[in-house]
Amino acid sequence: MSNYYQKEIETASREEILKIQNEKIVKQVKHVYENVPYYRNLMDQKGVKPEDIQSVDDIKKLPFLTKDDLREAYPYGLLGTDLKNCVRIQSTSGTTGKRVVAFYTQHDVDIWEECCARAIMAAGGTSDDVCQVSYGYGLFTGGPGLNGGSHKVGCLTLPMSSGNTDRQLQFMMDLNATILCCTPSYAAYLGESLAERGYKPEDNKLKAGIFGAEPWTEEMRRSIEKSLGIKAYDIYGLTETSGPGVSFECEEQTGMHINEDHFYAEIIDPKTGEVLPEGSKGELVFTSLDKEGFPLLRYRTKDICILSRKKCSCGRTHVKMTKPLGRSDDMMIIRGVNVFPSQIEAVLLKEGYTPNYQIVVDRVNNTDTFDIYVEYSPEQFSDKIAVVQAQEKALNGAMRSMLGIGPKIHLVAPKTITRSEGKAVRVIDKRKLHD
Ligand code: ADP
Ligand code: ZN
Repeated sequence: MSNYYQKEIETASREEILKIQNEKIVKQVKHVYENVPYYRNLMDQKGVKPEDIQSVDDIKKLPFLTKDDLREAYPYGLLGTDLKNCVRIQSTSGTTGKRVVAFYTQHDVDIWEECCARAIMAAGGTSDDVCQVSYGYGLFTGGPGLNGGSHKVGCLTLPMSSGNTDRQLQFMMDLNATILCCTPSYAAYLGESLAERGYKPEDNKLKAGIFGAEPWTEEMRRSIEKSLGIKAYDIYGLTETSGPGVSFECEEQTGMHINEDHFYAEIIDPKTGEVLPEGSKGELVFTSLDKEGFPLLRYRTKDICILSRKKCSCGRTHVKMTKPLGRSDDMMIIRGVNVFPSQIEAVLLKEGYTPNYQIVVDRVNNTDTFDIYVEYSPEQFSDKIAVVQAQEKALNGAMRSMLGIGPKIHLVAPKTITRSEGKAVRVIDKRKLHD
């Protein structure tokens, strides 16, 4: 039996959810048209009037918003209400360029925290838990979002923020943390650091982890679950729609339920903008149904995923999204071949290597170079050249059969690749410097 924060809405029938969505969208579009001149112009250019939107089926008539719009409208151009009604500003991490800011009214903060509370309870959280929040606090949404969710559930909240790994581990052990929230790359690092200090996975009291904010593979999930002795749940979100908690995993661990009473999701063909049927792979687009401060309609996330309405054993009825298979702008084109960092991570972990790696792409004499630096674990480490060369060759072969092109592999000594405390930097594309 699953644990719900708002059972009625989380398990509502499809008809009930549609009814809520249809009521909210009519109000929301009218509100945006009247209060956000930037979006009103886009609607006028497309010849769409608020009256044209009578249900969520009509959302496809609305114009898209992109990150470029957000940058152009920065800082106040997409504000949906008077600034005096807003109580909070957060900002994106700036992974793909200039940061954008988002505004929240108290109502928006409450909804966001409720979404995070749903995620924590889906991971088994209750008021008996000690929830260690090791996402960064501040402008980044990870810390504040899960912190608020943890309060709403009634967990004893440990607001660690990221960094200072010694203190993280000391408090985790001394204060008996049972739930850990952070990026998956930092969770992997905390697991590795515990082992280094002589702890076994069963020595800590953790039972669950809520990890997101960056792409991670199933192989990475298994490796973290093993090193910390927990069940690891995925959580997804973006600052533009509020932050983490837009969708979250339940115990089935087969995709993340999108909080459909607050967000309407579409999958589009990223090239044509055409809406694709359920089950298609494409770019995820969100319409926030009831946000006041920053009410984005048809926001293109650039995240590539698949939606599914298959019945879930947890009892939740909200649509599920797969893990983002990568951002459309994460994809590298190397010697004409499309390569996603997540494919590389999957091969590395399958071949028994650590999740500590870095990809370096450059262009020399008009040809792309493609190097992957992979760290040995202390047990694997070898200083025999013949052994290292044979391993590098084997890994090159495994990569070639996955990607269709062979990178140069460099196996490096343990602890030589910088660890991340927030979002990991997996790719260094030096070609961009020459452009
Ligand atoms: P930035 O876009 O600057 O990184 P955010 O901090 O708002 O700003 O990050 C949102 C993005 O993080 C999402 O669009 C998505 O690409 C990524 N992300 C968030 N959660 C996950 C997750 N669980 N799996 C994969 N990617 C995620
Ligand atoms: Zn479920």
